[in-house]
Amino acid sequence: MTYVFNPTPTVSVPVLGTPARFPVHRIYCVGRNYEEHAKEMGFTGREPPFFFLKPTDALVVVNEGETGTLPYPSLTHNFHHEIELVVAIGVGGKNIKAADAFQHIFGYAVGLDMTRRDLQNEMKKLGRPWCIGKAFDASAPIGPITPVAQAGDVNQAEVYLQVNGQDRQRSAVAKLIWNIAETIEHLSAAWELQAGDLIYTGTPEGVAAVVSGDTLLGGVSGLGTLSVKVI
Ligand code: MN
Repeated sequence: MTYVFNPTPTVSVPVLGTPARFPVHRIYCVGRNYEEHAKEMGFTGREPPFFFLKPTDALVVVNEGETGTLPYPSLTHNFHHEIELVVAIGVGGKNIKAADAFQHIFGYAVGLDMTRRDLQNEMKKLGRPWCIGKAFDASAPIGPITPVAQAGDVNQAEVYLQVNGQDRQRSAVAKLIWNIAETIEHLSAAWELQAGDLIYTGTPEGVAAVVSGDTLLGGVSGLGTLSVKVI
């Protein structure tokens, strides 16, 4: 087969303990999945889960022990961090029951759902799609994937983010409103999941703005850390 121009290469994420990489299919994100974050955004935290997507080439892939570069995006004056546990799907399926969800998971990573909050709020007010606030270039930093066998029990993990060494977000995966298995059940009822899908599971409270020069260091215990510098 020939193409009229060279196709975009497959986006992939390193996997700890192997030179083989995880090829990314789609990036799903869960909205308002921690009660205290839902409240800080003006909601009760008792809604069914809802989802949005980011393009795969929005990933900023950062290797273990390195600090990635995060360009300050255009059009915003309120560029927010959202630290999140990311679930990497290894076996696809639709209408997956929560009880079976674990066998579809390849591994986990630490991710940032970077948000142009001013643009997202404007779109919310107008009842328009969130894409410009959520799905922009370089909006999805991610660290390497830890395979499930090496990850321990992520449901008991702590999730945190520091900016320039100061705590901004610190919570526990156990505080997810819709846990990992329930999220997979809801998501796979709406879309057929495929191997290579990433799910950003939502952020706890403490979201706030960053500016050029800031260094973000996030982590989920058992999964290592993710570091990026805003330029
Ligand atoms: Mn988020």
